[in-house]
Amino acid sequence: MIVMKFGGTSVGSPSRIKEIASLINSPDNKIVVLSAMAGTTNALVEIASHLYKKEKAVALSFIEELEMDYYLVVDELFTKSEFKSKALGKIKTHFDFIKSFAVDMFTLSGEKAVLAQGELISTILLNCYLQERKINSALLPALDFMRTDGSGEPVANEIKQNIENALQKLPPANIYITQGFICRNPNGEIDNLRRGGSDYSASLIGAAVEAEEIQIWTDIDGMHNNDPRYVGNTHPLSNLSFDEAAELAYFGAKILHPSSVLPAKMANIPVRLKNTMKPGLEGTLISSQSDGINIKAIAAKDNITAIKINSGRMLLAYGFLRKVFEIFETYKTPIDMITTSEVAVSVTIDNTDNLTEILTELKKYGRVEVDSNLSIVCVVGNFIAESKGYALKVFDALKNIPIRMISYGGSMHNVSLLVNKGFKIEALKSLNDKLF
Ligand code: ASP
Repeated sequence: MIVMKFGGTSVGSPSRIKEIASLINSPDNKIVVLSAMAGTTNALVEIASHLYKKEKAVALSFIEELEMDYYLVVDELFTKSEFKSKALGKIKTHFDFIKSFAVDMFTLSGEKAVLAQGELISTILLNCYLQERKINSALLPALDFMRTDGSGEPVANEIKQNIENALQKLPPANIYITQGFICRNPNGEIDNLRRGGSDYSASLIGAAVEAEEIQIWTDIDGMHNNDPRYVGNTHPLSNLSFDEAAELAYFGAKILHPSSVLPAKMANIPVRLKNTMKPGLEGTLISSQSDGINIKAIAAKDNITAIKINSGRMLLAYGFLRKVFEIFETYKTPIDMITTSEVAVSVTIDNTDNLTEILTELKKYGRVEVDSNLSIVCVVGNFIAESKGYALKVFDALKNIPIRMISYGGSMHNVSLLVNKGFKIEALKSLNDKLF
């Protein structure tokens, strides 16, 4: 069994859906995981925001606009009227469901149900289209097997059990089509794995069915060694270890959702990043294999805020860091980088939703300084402590760039540097020149 996940752009138009149908039409058994068509989840978020504000008429007009877009998609996608009306009927049911939320009380669970419709509709479109082309496939509803716990985290053993049961109930097919992103929470309500979560779904499904490979299909030919938006002549990496891929995904490589590496790593299932436009290319293979000591790639992550806590109390004290970290834990705010000196500790965060509360608490422990609009530039590879010269190369490349924080040695795979966002592109370019 292989798992093939297609993102929003890959299902973004009738012609792209047709391409997917050709790509998946092979004899091997597969589970195809789809995102919503590009733009749909954002449109549904907007609809939900109007529903929250009780702007029912505005919400309804947005819903109808989206519904019309889908009717045009159906018209272009299908040739036979039988399949056209079948698809239209099903899509209408989903839009009627969305419209049923235009009532006075709109809640978070209503929002989650509305957001789920994008994936439900894209999978209907592909499944009906395959039927029209007489390609044997079956829908495998993600809401029947994908489960999260009270903290919104997936429950691997339940997912495994549920998916086995669900597959047994379905007619035999070598193509099962399911929804990324959506799940049910412990109350049985429709929920999701957070924005961009379809990659995570694919990885969880791959682990649950012990797939041979998890393929993530996008519009670029794998994970690149630098950010192609800012640096010329980047190239796709043929191999990455799970740890290297996790660092790159977390620190800015947009091609893969950071959460999606772990389930595959735990189950030791290779993940392949492939390009729908050039399916013949190998793409990037992420696996437990590491191919030697070297610098692999550079990535950058924006919107970073640094917080420095200066405290006399840290001098010769223990327990200080615990108190600082507890504050971030209380406000569910992950820390990305950390550096310490005898009198101060600096940390970075990218989620500033609770910054005011965090700062109020931190001030109890000392003087607090905050810098925003920073970027983390992250050099990823396989460096071992004995290998010499990597730090020198990195620092030499950045000799003209003011560096706010440096993290080296946290893992064998990452050197992270914090710079002002204005220096990010220069840093990426000059690291590219010096390291590759
Ligand atoms: N459709 C969802 C989103 O836009 C999930 C995904 O595409 O991965 O966030």
